[in-house]
Amino acid sequence: MEIVVLGRYGSFPGKDGACSGYFIKTDKSAVLIDCGNGTIGRLQRYCRIEDLDAIVISHLHDDHMGDLRVLRYAIETKQAFGELDHPIKVFMPKNPTVIAEGIYHPDLFDTEYIHEDMVIEIKGLLLRFALMKHSIESYAVSIEEGQKKVVYSADTVYNEELITFSKNANLLINEATFADISSLKAPVPHMDALHAGLVAKRAGVKQLLLTHFWYEESVDRCIEAAKQNFDNVLAADEFKNYTV
Ligand SMILES: [Zn+2]
Repeated sequence: MEIVVLGRYGSFPGKDGACSGYFIKTDKSAVLIDCGNGTIGRLQRYCRIEDLDAIVISHLHDDHMGDLRVLRYAIETKQAFGELDHPIKVFMPKNPTVIAEGIYHPDLFDTEYIHEDMVIEIKGLLLRFALMKHSIESYAVSIEEGQKKVVYSADTVYNEELITFSKNANLLINEATFADISSLKAPVPHMDALHAGLVAKRAGVKQLLLTHFWYEESVDRCIEAAKQNFDNVLAADEFKNYTV
């Protein structure tokens, strides 16, 4: 399984960057996990839109789904030109309903709402979900191919459920919006690199990939903070391919 980081920024992109988007590719399948602002243009370096098997949206914040709004124009146009004869499968949370309703276009998106008990099979990939703790409904996603397992934390504060859900993953892609949130003046519904390292350690994962950086945060400082708890840690690089 290959994972290409299309965007690694949280909330809004840093200079020349993009927000959350992870393209998962195997011999048989092509899945986009999150479709944050800036990701659809980048996706096309690796995959034609009409060749996507599914899009999975962890939660309905624009840094994770904003490009769905422009993707619908692409699908509409491709359908008009006969390049695409079906809607694209989208798995996403149902809440907030006002946002979900705003992107409800059954001719363009074949939408299924995520819940914790669902297991999705997409051409040899198994996807599972765990409800996280964020300001809105947000799901961590586990992607398995045979014995290989990748877990994506989505946006969440540190929580025990994520540790259980991530057990023995080959790769944990975990948000690290800041290096250490204890220095912030108000609580935020996010995790820092220090705690991402703790999740990796307690879940016994093989490798930790930090992502969802605040644009002004130092990535080196994030790595340093995560390493206080876990050694095998990398910072997500945009356009870089990670093989599991
Ligand atoms: Zn976010």
